[in-house]
Amino acid sequence: MPRESIYKQYIPENRPNHENDEKSYWFIFNSSKMLANVETGQIPLVKDLNELNTTPLRKVYLGKFMGQPCYAAEVDTEVESINIPEGMAFKDLRTLYTILDEDVYLLAGRAVQIINWDKNHQFCGKCGTLTETMDEEMAKICPECGFISFTRISPAVITAIVKEGKLLMAKHNYGQYRRYGLIAGFVEAGETLEEAVEREIMEEVGIKVKNIEYFGSQSWPYPHSLMIGFTAEYESGEIEVDGKEIAHAKWFEFDDLPEMPSRISIAGELIDWYKENYSEDISQK
Ligand SMILES: [Zn+2]
Repeated sequence: MPRESIYKQYIPENRPNHENDEKSYWFIFNSSKMLANVETGQIPLVKDLNELNTTPLRKVYLGKFMGQPCYAAEVDTEVESINIPEGMAFKDLRTLYTILDEDVYLLAGRAVQIINWDKNHQFCGKCGTLTETMDEEMAKICPECGFISFTRISPAVITAIVKEGKLLMAKHNYGQYRRYGLIAGFVEAGETLEEAVEREIMEEVGIKVKNIEYFGSQSWPYPHSLMIGFTAEYESGEIEVDGKEIAHAKWFEFDDLPEMPSRISIAGELIDWYKENYSEDISQK
């Protein structure tokens, strides 16, 4: 089920064409945390950040949201204080998922990626000259050598693999991914998406798959991925985990699935797809 246009009230633009006295929506980040009202999900709607008594390290115009201009901005509260509006706080974007409206959450994901890209591409990667932001697209150009850097996005594939009605899930060895999840990994240079699916699955659990089908995609701003979801069927091989990245993997029955990834991610949607399509197999057993 490919996604339709995700935004309902957002129109992307590269350059503001509004009067300066208009109120704007501000996606304000302090490191990876965003300023929002933790009860209502509202974000600051002010003319500029002087109203919050602060000067941003950087700001990037995003376009129009709900008819108002909107900006991404970064502040460093250790360097410069900020008058935080009542009820608001800097919160990790993931924890704001259940609080923000969908458009605001999605736009915040765009905002944080653009802010980080802006911060990490101040200088030309080729010759070291200070870059300039381009007018006509979201890119930076080197005035010295002409090298252009586009927003950084790292494609990654994630696959729901089914064998005789069972779903393959694996447990990672590290970090925050210690729950069971689907097999996923970054696309390498020169690969098609399907090749990346086959390679990752072979590398991580040692099995071969067939009938790889596109499921949908999702921007995943942690920190700058594009997740591309697939479904596939088991073809051959026995599960053999690499022991480094993956600690354990197994085929789960529909009615015995481990704790789910949050609905926030495309992994959650893929598992919903599995449940919708394979629950009958089980009930007929
Ligand atoms: Zn250069």
